[in-house]
Amino acid sequence: MTDDELYRAQVAYLLERSAFYREKLAGHEAGSLDELAALPLTEKDELRATRTPENPIGAHLCVPREEIVRIYSTSGTTGDPSYVPLTAGDLENWIVGSARSYAASGVRPGQTIVSTYNAGPFVAGAALAAFERIGLTHVPVGTGNTEKLLRAVEQLRPEAVVLTPSHAAYLAESHPSLAGSSVQRVLVAGEPGGGEPAFRARLEEGWGAQVTEAMGVGDIGVSLFGECERQDGMHLGAHGFVHLELIDPDTEAALPLEDGASGELVLTHLQHRAAPLLRFRTRDHVHVRTTPCPCGRAGIRIRCVGRTDDMLIVRGVNVFPSAVREVVGAFAPDVSGNVAVRPERPGVTQEPPLPVAVELARGREDDPRLAEAIREKLRDVLVVQTRIELVPWGALRRSEYKSTLVER
Ligand SMILES: [Zn+2]
Repeated sequence: MTDDELYRAQVAYLLERSAFYREKLAGHEAGSLDELAALPLTEKDELRATRTPENPIGAHLCVPREEIVRIYSTSGTTGDPSYVPLTAGDLENWIVGSARSYAASGVRPGQTIVSTYNAGPFVAGAALAAFERIGLTHVPVGTGNTEKLLRAVEQLRPEAVVLTPSHAAYLAESHPSLAGSSVQRVLVAGEPGGGEPAFRARLEEGWGAQVTEAMGVGDIGVSLFGECERQDGMHLGAHGFVHLELIDPDTEAALPLEDGASGELVLTHLQHRAAPLLRFRTRDHVHVRTTPCPCGRAGIRIRCVGRTDDMLIVRGVNVFPSAVREVVGAFAPDVSGNVAVRPERPGVTQEPPLPVAVELARGREDDPRLAEAIREKLRDVLVVQTRIELVPWGALRRSEYKSTLVER
């Protein structure tokens, strides 16, 4: 079936089974996939607001409990976690899409991969099944267990590892011997950053391996996107399961998916059963590439530049902390690549100059000319006035899971 046929069937299913969407779509005419932008967006908080003691999942639930084989939680940045139910078919589609996304990295059947996710409450656990599906020998060592990971790399000699970019950076910095290990591919996921050129270069040097990224969206699916060996953005591994759109996060207007476009990613399930979502706002801000990829995979590619939740507005200009890190990272080897944006006031809107702590590389001394060069570069590239404080190597917090680029 084409995506349009799947979409029409999905909408019919929603109107039949979903109390949430029956109400939301009342008065709207759901036509073809091309007309999707005329329908209302779905916010995570709206779903959360429909939860009751009798239905703790929410009014978007479409199936009886006996058809649900698994219920994940999304961590959520605020408030209670919300539940993500899956039927057996939903789970299977997640695994198929995730396997496609991770296979794009170039890992091959017969190779060995060490994973650092836990098969815990969060959707990332579903990606674990994707590694077996690809035909890899999968060695799960769990989250935050550096000793186990290092031992597995040394003794089992995997070709690949999968971890968050923060964890990959922490390990590369703290264990220089990894550069000579068996690992040829480092697959990063779980937070943005793996596609930032300077950050990626640092990871690749530290690991002596190719770094590619993957990305999922908790409420929609695990590892929906995965980058190929060309490292020019993530392909949609979940094609046929998910449809993507781009919107302006401020006006909510749909944006054309053209080369170089950027905006908030909006996703629609195409053949989900347990609790399908339509035009779900992901809060992920992405850049779009539409030129054909030499790897031969069809469709557009995306790179996530940050969460719209992390975005600051400085004198009318949108600033993503991850973009600050990217610009600063180009000053390696003078800097370590770690940064902390330190807003002086609560909320999104900030007055210039925006304070940014930039960590020096090991052994480098404070240098006012370097600080000035970084300040000028940030002004030129991101159109933001900053106040740069150079801090000694080791002064900024490292994370073994996910980084916080904003310190308040
Ligand atoms: Zn490609």
